[in-house]
Amino acid sequence: MDREEYAGKLFIISGPSGAGKGTICQRLAEETKVELSVSMTTRKPRPGEIEGKSYFFTTEEEFQKEIENGGLLEYASVYGNFYGTPKSKVVEKLRAGTDIVLEIDIQGALNVKEVYPDGIFIFILPPSMAELRKRITGRGSESEEAINLRLSQTLKEVSYIDKYDYCVVNGDLNEAVARVKSIVMAEHSRVSQSIYQLIEKYKEEV
Ligand code: ADP
Ligand code: 5GP
Repeated sequence: MDREEYAGKLFIISGPSGAGKGTICQRLAEETKVELSVSMTTRKPRPGEIEGKSYFFTTEEEFQKEIENGGLLEYASVYGNFYGTPKSKVVEKLRAGTDIVLEIDIQGALNVKEVYPDGIFIFILPPSMAELRKRITGRGSESEEAINLRLSQTLKEVSYIDKYDYCVVNGDLNEAVARVKSIVMAEHSRVSQSIYQLIEKYKEEV
């Protein structure tokens, strides 16, 4: 990705499986103008997941082709499956002034930071490990073995927190959503190129 200043902002949300990233991103997409990027994955769809909405479900061959064609902004292998962010749609939207949120794993987030350090990196934490286990179990989509694998990764994952700009503990969902929304608003209040353009306009008026 080139270093032009896009009109839209790129938010990257990561955190342990079950922390509530998906739930928070969904609320953000419903309640603000921020749009959720739809990833590609080689994982099989879970019941209720919709092609093109939850993910673009694909084969390993197609995924490899996408990598070779340079079509992915980032990609990573997570719990034995490939996941990646389609690049062209994200760039197109940012250029048009739309904010985009990527809900991606930590390896993927670090890769985005390499190519696009202007991204805003947000880490979602659970209030406790007990609550994390309860949430993953309650979701009912993983086997006992998959749940234990995801939980065992958590401490390793949180060790990357210093690479992130913001951290939100998802205890009360409404509060967590409000905090993420306020991060979006704060980022739009940064002194940036568009503010200088506004100041130039003032000069024409005086
Ligand atoms: P992630 O995307 O981080 O893996 P999910 O968004 O799928 O996590 O959330 C995991 C489960 O926890 C879901 O069943 C979701 O409804 C639930 N959940 C999310 N946030 C909260 C919260 N603040 N309080 C209670 N349950 C929550
Ligand atoms: P799940 O299988 O539960 O939907 O997702 C598993 C993990 O993959 C989550 O941590 C999620 O954030 C991550 N993930 C989803 N899409 C992408 C993506 O496009 N790129 C990367 N790097 N990770 C992703």
